[in-house]
Amino acid sequence: MKNTIITKDQIQAAAQAAYEKSKDIKGGVNAHYIPYLANINPDLFGLSVTLPDGTVYNYGDTEYKFGIESVSKVPTAILVMRQQGPEAVLKNIGADATGLPFNSIYAILLENDHPSTPLVNAGAISACSMVLPAGDSDAKWKAITDNITDLCGSAPELIDELYKSESETNFNNRAISWLLKDYNRIYDDVPMSLDLYTRQCSLGITASQLSAMAATIASGGINPLTKKRIFDEVISPKITSLIATVGFYQHTGDWLYTSGIPAKSGVGGGVLGVLPGKLGIAAFAPPLDDAGNSVKAQAAVKAFVEKLHLGVFDTVNPVIQY
Ligand code: GLN
Repeated sequence: MKNTIITKDQIQAAAQAAYEKSKDIKGGVNAHYIPYLANINPDLFGLSVTLPDGTVYNYGDTEYKFGIESVSKVPTAILVMRQQGPEAVLKNIGADATGLPFNSIYAILLENDHPSTPLVNAGAISACSMVLPAGDSDAKWKAITDNITDLCGSAPELIDELYKSESETNFNNRAISWLLKDYNRIYDDVPMSLDLYTRQCSLGITASQLSAMAATIASGGINPLTKKRIFDEVISPKITSLIATVGFYQHTGDWLYTSGIPAKSGVGGGVLGVLPGKLGIAAFAPPLDDAGNSVKAQAAVKAFVEKLHLGVFDTVNPVIQY
């Protein structure tokens, strides 16, 4: 197995090239089932890379606050692991791929024992129900947002209009919550757990913040911007394995096969990618493919990883020189 050395300049050049190569890609449509998201400018596009030494390379609209949506499932799964340990997530929710869309009720029926994973809607609502302290919505919300602030090194901001838009239209998620209750997989008040999930999906976040979060995961729990230890390093491989297994829903296998990077998407257009021990990357562009994954963000992340042979299955395994 050969080990190549790559420099920070090469990383910067690859990020810039990936941005330029992807910026004119057409295809995909904004999420249409959430009215707020349907109306976001589809031409917005940003790419951000954060290294463990705190260096950040930003291209395009990396300071635009978009709806974090399903990428929020990652920090809340981390929060539950921080509070109760990785085993509690495995036992109460699961760590399996569903192979089905993110909001699938069929997936729950097929596996009535567990909601499968905290990275699909069912498991994420279940994860919100597990957040401590039980029974106190305000305190739980504070824990959820403080955790995201820790991971990013800066605070997310609720997009009120998105929260309203989602709360008024989340009928499928209401069905999921009550079905899970029937299977004893909601560990707190049901409407409260669903509301926390809906609210966390409505947080505004930037691509730059998401790449810092990704880099914190890649660095074993140390935030490269604040230098603070956010979580125990045993959590990193656990959350990254969940991301690798189901991060792109029914397209996760195709994604991993073609890109080689564990990544999580959200219908707001964000993608967060983790290269363990190496770096964090995030991209944002609203138009989505049929599974709800950003078309342009996928292209950009893929181009970056490919250029430097950074894929987790790539035998080149480059070492970054500092
Ligand atoms: N809030 C969205 C939902 O529950 C999140 C879905 C996603 O980003 N894939 O449907």
